[in-house]
Amino acid sequence: MKIQMLGTGSAFAKTYYNTNALIYANGYNLLIDCGSTAMLSLYQLNIPLDSIDGVWVTHLHADHIGGLEELAFRTKYELNKKIDLYVMESLMPTLWDHCLKGTLINDQDGFISLADYYDVIVVKEQQTVKVIEELHIEPIRTEHVPGKPNYSLFINDFFFYSADLQFNSELLMQLHRERGCGLIFHDCQLELPGIVHTTLEQLLTLPLDIQQNIRLMHYSDNMPQYIGKTGAMQFLTQHESMDITEKTYKP
Ligand SMILES: [Zn+2]
Ligand SMILES: [Zn+2]
Repeated sequence: MKIQMLGTGSAFAKTYYNTNALIYANGYNLLIDCGSTAMLSLYQLNIPLDSIDGVWVTHLHADHIGGLEELAFRTKYELNKKIDLYVMESLMPTLWDHCLKGTLINDQDGFISLADYYDVIVVKEQQTVKVIEELHIEPIRTEHVPGKPNYSLFINDFFFYSADLQFNSELLMQLHRERGCGLIFHDCQLELPGIVHTTLEQLLTLPLDIQQNIRLMHYSDNMPQYIGKTGAMQFLTQHESMDITEKTYKP
């Protein structure tokens, strides 16, 4: 299995694009979020649209869903097909009614719901989804913006992918110590205050053995100033591609 970062920047970063990723799992290619810069990134990487099999939505900020409209229109009209869209039950109504309906609804052609554009798979809380035999995703509800549902991902029981979250050391400790998590992609706000994100300063309080498993993403344009100041953690870089086989990362 492989993961490629379409972007590694924060919501407002201009240099590194939005933090979105593409997982390649035995012939099934799954986008983790599709933010405003995702389609441009796919284009720059020469990844053809028809190689994308599905997209998983972690939460409803534009840097995570801003590309879903283009993806919907282009899969429908250019490719004449639907791809899978994994959406948490709690995100569904808002995703359609308040984010996408205004432009995707087309009474003339009878397109009246998300299901007219995507093969929608509604995921319940605490439901682990078997996307394919080799790719299992467990959504973990995490705190980001108060009152707004947000789900980080625990993939194949060893890989934690944060979906923008306020620092939660208990969760990271528990995943690391009790659940065999050997790889963590974590959002990282470089400058204070963090408010709805985890800051570098907070991540630096984690024990060294956890830091060694952490790759930092969702950072601001001034990231280069922080190279060498991230303890045992390393920055992911835009368009970086990494093998994420269980063998390597399961402790
Ligand atoms: Zn974000
Ligand atoms: Zn967010």
